[in-house]
Amino acid sequence: MIYTSTIVGYPYIGEDREWKKALEAFWKNELSEGEFLQNLKDIRLARITKQLQLGIDLITVGDFTLYDRMLDTAMMFGLVPKRFDWQGGKVDLQTYYGVARGSKKAVASEMTKWFNTNYHYIVPEYDGQALQLTENKILADFLEAKEAFGITAKPTLIGPYTFCQLTKGYDKISQITFILALLPLYTHVIKELVDAGAQWIQLEEPLLATTLDEAEVKLVQEIYTQLAVSVPEAKIMLQTYFESLTAYESIVKLPVRGIGLDFVHGYGKNMEALRQFGFPKDKILAVGIINGRDIWRSNLAEVSSTIKAIEQLSDAKELWIQSSCNLQHVPITTTLETKLEPVLKNALAFADEKLVEIIEVTKYLQGQDSPSNYKLSESMKAIEALKNHPIRQNKDVQKAVQTVSIQDFERHSDFKARQKIQQQALQLPLFPTTTIGSFPQSDEVKRTRSAWRKKHITNEDYAVFVEHETKRWITIQEELDIDVLVHGEFERTDMVEYFGEKLTGFAFTEKAWVVSYGSRCVKPPIIYGDVAWDAPMTVKETAYAQSQTKRYVKGMLTGPVTILNWSFVRDDISRKDVTYQIALALREEVKALEAAGIAIIQVDEPALREGLPLRKENWGTYLEWTVNAFKLATSSVKDETQIHTHMCYCEFNDFIEPISALDADVISIETSRSHGELISSLQVNPYEKGIGLGVYDIHSPRVPSEKEMLSIMQDSLQVLSKNQFWVNPDCGLKTRKEPETISALMNMVAAAKTLRQQVQQSTF
Ligand code: GLN
Ligand code: ZN
Repeated sequence: MIYTSTIVGYPYIGEDREWKKALEAFWKNELSEGEFLQNLKDIRLARITKQLQLGIDLITVGDFTLYDRMLDTAMMFGLVPKRFDWQGGKVDLQTYYGVARGSKKAVASEMTKWFNTNYHYIVPEYDGQALQLTENKILADFLEAKEAFGITAKPTLIGPYTFCQLTKGYDKISQITFILALLPLYTHVIKELVDAGAQWIQLEEPLLATTLDEAEVKLVQEIYTQLAVSVPEAKIMLQTYFESLTAYESIVKLPVRGIGLDFVHGYGKNMEALRQFGFPKDKILAVGIINGRDIWRSNLAEVSSTIKAIEQLSDAKELWIQSSCNLQHVPITTTLETKLEPVLKNALAFADEKLVEIIEVTKYLQGQDSPSNYKLSESMKAIEALKNHPIRQNKDVQKAVQTVSIQDFERHSDFKARQKIQQQALQLPLFPTTTIGSFPQSDEVKRTRSAWRKKHITNEDYAVFVEHETKRWITIQEELDIDVLVHGEFERTDMVEYFGEKLTGFAFTEKAWVVSYGSRCVKPPIIYGDVAWDAPMTVKETAYAQSQTKRYVKGMLTGPVTILNWSFVRDDISRKDVTYQIALALREEVKALEAAGIAIIQVDEPALREGLPLRKENWGTYLEWTVNAFKLATSSVKDETQIHTHMCYCEFNDFIEPISALDADVISIETSRSHGELISSLQVNPYEKGIGLGVYDIHSPRVPSEKEMLSIMQDSLQVLSKNQFWVNPDCGLKTRKEPETISALMNMVAAAKTLRQQVQQSTF
């Protein structure tokens, strides 16, 4: 048996985010185009040098980008939206970044989540453009690697099926036209690669790991048959990831030379399919076995025996040992972390450490054993050590999770009863106005926090500063005549990090960045221990704000599911148990806020929806434990206490039921960009609880007029009753500037007052 080590793709941001810095410097005109491109070339080649030095057999190229790989593909095929006034030929950088980020004349293309990851890609737009090959960028990358290192790399492209299905703008009829125009271009790219000496060409088709109906399977067959006829000499590796294949039997028979399967996230089903249908002996099987989505070391002994089992079940003549998906979803290297405790650090594997794992396993399988044997047992020891770490031995928390019962999820009374009690207790006006939590984080706020972090100012000085800013904004809110106030979140940089730093069980890295979209990178916390609540986290700031006003101030917490979904999470216990641990900790915080006299508490869950599994058939299980986790965090309060939640960044049309199941008294929700859609879906799925449909988009500095917001509110009242409707912006205001925020809120309050009058005088 031949074993080859390779990966699906490698991160492009650079160990120190050199890529991000280069892009942003270029956008600010701090780098000339020539300098910029040279910079990127250096980063591109450094990645290959590293992989070669470590000993990866088959190097991947084409996994680099100028912004986003879907966008690269779209630009390569001339899919520049017409509003950009592009004249054909090679797409210049200005046009390219215009489509990505918007230009003076035209708005950017839409951005959306890449499957179930936290990466967002640019959605290709087809508006009838004549497709053309503007530049074979993949060929350029292939030749560059050949020239620099003398290697025959494996070029990778987003596959035609996935690319075509994720492109927006065609209907059923023009889809055929689109595909017919697209396929010759793919053929052309592949042909040029083959002519230049490429052997293997990887086509990434993650969409094959979602649910496909019969017509879709047929389309995939047609596309790949067509490719096989046009470029029979190309050795295509059809790469899938993020889940098992749904149409395994048909897909493995496609006329390609190799199939890549995810044996991490699709382990059970892919194994079952292998057992049932085998694997064709004329194809290579690429075994995605090192997790490309988590940050943990693999148990290499286990990995090796899984590969052996796969080998037994398949007739494949060669196995590629690889990551389960592109490693862009994990940080680059643990070596830059200087502050993590050794037991944790030793149990981590970021991209580079995963490369080493792949290489060690491959060597072991090849029979070059002695050092590899040692590595195998070393990985087990590291995992074992973390397992026995005292931070994972909190018996109280573990017991609390085990003894959670159905009663712990439920409020005392049902919503209808609570609504009456809360109306009595809170005496809020019709259409109460509020905001989502954060107010502008001015340069002064950021500067002061950073001075405090660097210990240039004392804890006391920092606390005094935060109080001063809070008080200033309490006054502003009173002057604006907002009904339910917030303290402004001036003490927080990030809504997950803030809680992670105060709870037990979390660790924070220095350089473990992953790309989120474009040049934006995030540094998720690591949940590696049992999560426990030690002391109040938000009571001091909230109670202070409440002491400064007679109006209600909302307590403001990040929900358990959002904390989970925006962190790297331990894998020795289930995600559900981790979430319940967080929920129990938040439950203590909710109780502490209530005991401190806070009558309204908001628990944000913007990431609830994004954690939905790829396959619809798995949604139910996920929603059951996530909804329960939210309820566990919030249900201890008395009926008078009003629980709010907030969601944003996603489509809610198919999500009304789960939102209702949270049993929050009020939800504020981002809708200003897709307002009409949500309203029509509320018509079909009535919603009875309190709801604030964001009346303006906080992602833009534009100040909406009173009239504009009033009309949105009037529309909303077509589907919502007047007793449930709240008025608020669609998300937190921390990225906005102060003057525009105040003007927008002034108009918002005015619109709410006008609507109250209209309703009271029955003129509306
Ligand atoms: N309370 C948070 C804020 O206002 C919510 C942020 C979010 O939804 N992403 O900033
Ligand atoms: Zn939000």
